[in-house]
Amino acid sequence: MRVSTPRMGNLPLIVEDLACRFGIDYIEPPVFSEETVRIGASLAPEFACLPLKAVVGTFVQALEAGADTLLMGGGSGPCRFGYYAEIQRRILEKEGYRFKLIILDPPSTSLKAAYSGLRSIVPPDVARFGTLVRELRRALAKVVVFDEIEKWGLALKGREAEPGSVERAAEEACSVTAAAFTGKEIRRARREVQQLFENVGLDDDRQCLRIGVVGEIFVVLEPYFNFDIGNWLGKRGVVVERSVHIADTAYPGGRNPVFGYDERQVARAAAPYLTHEVGGDGLLSVGATAIFARRGFDAVIHFLPFTCMPEVIAKSVLARVSEEMGIPVLSLTIDEQTGRAGVETRLEALLDLARSKRRRETIPLEGRFSTSPTGDLSLRGGSQPP
Ligand code: SF4
Repeated sequence: MRVSTPRMGNLPLIVEDLACRFGIDYIEPPVFSEETVRIGASLAPEFACLPLKAVVGTFVQALEAGADTLLMGGGSGPCRFGYYAEIQRRILEKEGYRFKLIILDPPSTSLKAAYSGLRSIVPPDVARFGTLVRELRRALAKVVVFDEIEKWGLALKGREAEPGSVERAAEEACSVTAAAFTGKEIRRARREVQQLFENVGLDDDRQCLRIGVVGEIFVVLEPYFNFDIGNWLGKRGVVVERSVHIADTAYPGGRNPVFGYDERQVARAAAPYLTHEVGGDGLLSVGATAIFARRGFDAVIHFLPFTCMPEVIAKSVLARVSEEMGIPVLSLTIDEQTGRAGVETRLEALLDLARSKRRRETIPLEGRFSTSPTGDLSLRGGSQPP
């Protein structure tokens, strides 16, 4: 098998690690480009959401590069994502590609289906049950560290004294983490990563805005589609925190170790505005915005792919959250036509608004917040920026 997967944020790093653990021949999907989007948009239905189009484009490029097995996540619930693997299979087969598609259902949907999906890639003669579980636990621990690197980078970039120092620390942190294999090595790598970020010089006098980023996971995590929002804001002296991380979606039991709030806390924060699941990350977008508002953030940026039903619901609810909690929320709808200039103009207007409305007080939520070198970004129990 020559296996490939969709690309999304840190995902290639994680799949590469798993491939190495189980001796799988992995073809890394190409980075997103205009060509990827052009291929996807020309093959996928016009009103499908952007992730479907982007993944179809990626799969075509991966198959052209020699992959013969494609891995795709499954799902259930109100979002269309659960159908996407099958739709992608039909689109690609119609184009004449021959390949094997393995659907990995999340354990929360069906433990049996998740296990059988895994076993199609890692058969028992490659890894017995005990080995499989041990290696998956190690990989999950590593995913948390990769996500923490992103989280800490976003928290510190806007405050770095020397431009580029956070990027350098993050690059080194990624190589240190990628090289760790056993549980002990991963724990040591995490300490080294913390040290690298602690060594970054900060400008304590800079008056930084604090902005939360929420929305649909694919657009929030993939810099090509969110116009590298973390870097863009960081260069303008903004401290950024994201509600969505790969580790949180993969972590059993909805604990969200990187964001720092478990699913019940998010649902409680969203409850005055939205009381039930709407699919995708819709409920998380609303709950996280309420949490950011209560923590005194200056604004929230909400990303949604065009025609994404869960986030369209969240967008309409966020208008009320914004008004009642007094926090500016900018919803940015992204599709293959979205241009950088238009997005940047709206972001600049948001920064102007946030500066003029600078909120001075921080209202603690359930007493969980403490002050730290990065203001009240740190959470007891969550992954804290050093
Ligand atoms: S959450 Fe939205 S964008 Fe993502 S797959 Fe579902 S409908 Fe599409």
